[in-house]
Amino acid sequence: MTESLSAPLTLFNSLTRSAEEFAPVNPGKAHVYTCGPTVYNFQHIGNMRAYIFADTLGRTLSWKGYNLSHIINITDVGHLTSDADAGDDKMEKAASETGKSAWDIAKFYTDAYWQDIERLNIRQPAKWSIATEHVEEMIAFAKSIADTHCYELDSGLYFDTSTVPDYGRLARAKTDDGEGRIDPVEGKRHQTDFAIWRKTPAGETRQMEWDSPWGKGAPGWHLECSVMSKMYLGETFDIHTGGIDHREIHHPNEIAQNQAHSCSADTGANIWMHNNFLVDRGGKMSKSAGEFLTLQVLVDAGVHPLAYRLMCLQAHYRSELEFTFENLLAALTRLKRMVMTVAQLRADAEPAAACTHPRLREMLDAFDVAISDDLNTPKALTHLDEILAQKKIDCSEKLAAIAEADAVLGLNLLTLERADLRLRPAKVEFTEDEVEHQLNLREEAKSNKNYPAADAIRNELADNGVEIMDGDPLRWEWRIDA
Ligand code: AMP
Ligand code: ZN
Repeated sequence: MTESLSAPLTLFNSLTRSAEEFAPVNPGKAHVYTCGPTVYNFQHIGNMRAYIFADTLGRTLSWKGYNLSHIINITDVGHLTSDADAGDDKMEKAASETGKSAWDIAKFYTDAYWQDIERLNIRQPAKWSIATEHVEEMIAFAKSIADTHCYELDSGLYFDTSTVPDYGRLARAKTDDGEGRIDPVEGKRHQTDFAIWRKTPAGETRQMEWDSPWGKGAPGWHLECSVMSKMYLGETFDIHTGGIDHREIHHPNEIAQNQAHSCSADTGANIWMHNNFLVDRGGKMSKSAGEFLTLQVLVDAGVHPLAYRLMCLQAHYRSELEFTFENLLAALTRLKRMVMTVAQLRADAEPAAACTHPRLREMLDAFDVAISDDLNTPKALTHLDEILAQKKIDCSEKLAAIAEADAVLGLNLLTLERADLRLRPAKVEFTEDEVEHQLNLREEAKSNKNYPAADAIRNELADNGVEIMDGDPLRWEWRIDA
């Protein structure tokens, strides 16, 4: 962190529903756990909003000088098709529908998720903790609280939510009437009680099952996050993140387990942060609702993934964000302008080792104030715009300032090339080189005043879905007419 960046970091804590100054458990360190994906399908771009948010938090903590340990889990077992306790495991269901093994499905979709993480320039966490690699520890955790906080039914080991103080405080839901508490399980003492171990029904075999003191079966989804967060980050750590749906059931249940395990009212993480939904005209984007948008769909339409990242940063993480292609294309245009401005600076200079120019430092301080105010990325972006707009300041100083801001925003502004942003939609069958070649021929024809030949080239390109953009203010010679 540079000396002048000193705005106090405040973060909105869903537990208290208020912004709080960040005070780490261990001075100088930041321990963050992010609920990761359930890998039974591709992630939709709404899911990826959750990881862009967690990455922005992580980048901000690093930028402000904290030594960050970030864990993201991969849920490859235990997440049922609803938030209730009855129903199929999402992994097993996908396996029976496709004829592939649950393990193969998990591997395939984990790899696809990791590819999206890379394309969105989301930094690698200290560890990807994979649920099925921690089942032994989950059984040990469950054993440690079984006698004091759980009871056994035919279907599994259940957590008795009346045994911990203030159950559901995070959700602020009525105790017996939380959202999604459908499919009641016979014998549960309270509607809010939840399975921490699900027994394989007699006569059945699951692809993913383990021996336990409660019989063969699989861990409940909530158990994995309590176990892995404590294992890697400590009994009490700083920040736990997830999408806002987790505020209602998954995280209250994690908190209940944490309290049972520590025999205290300690919720495990001090700050619980939740990103709001990406919505489309049909409402919240969800995987279970059939058709959904993946990052690959955007790429196939010719939009660079970082334009989606910028689109997310243009909204505050706690606001709903409506996805439309118009919004996305507007973000792409904004990103193009930024990249072109930086390209011009780079043509003139190398970035200075550090930005010392007083005007730029003022702008970076304003950027710091915005980002430190519960990650106000829309505001921070306006300060970046201000830096980009400076005409009279030395190019290398400006580049250093942009690099500093981009360490938080993750838009790769110093390495992206203009051409990187012009992706070829999947349905278009020519190469960029062919278009460039045709454009050169057209220029030649024009300079020979052979306008019919120039027009013929333009028409032929148009027939192939390429629009020539004479006089475009962004100086793009052509674009794909997607
Ligand atoms: P899942 O794979 O269903 O466990 O979800 C992965 C992450 O995406 C979780 O943190 C969810 O809360 C989050 N999430 C799910 N749907 C959306 C959405 N439409 N917008 C933003 N985040 C979402
Ligand atoms: Zn979780």
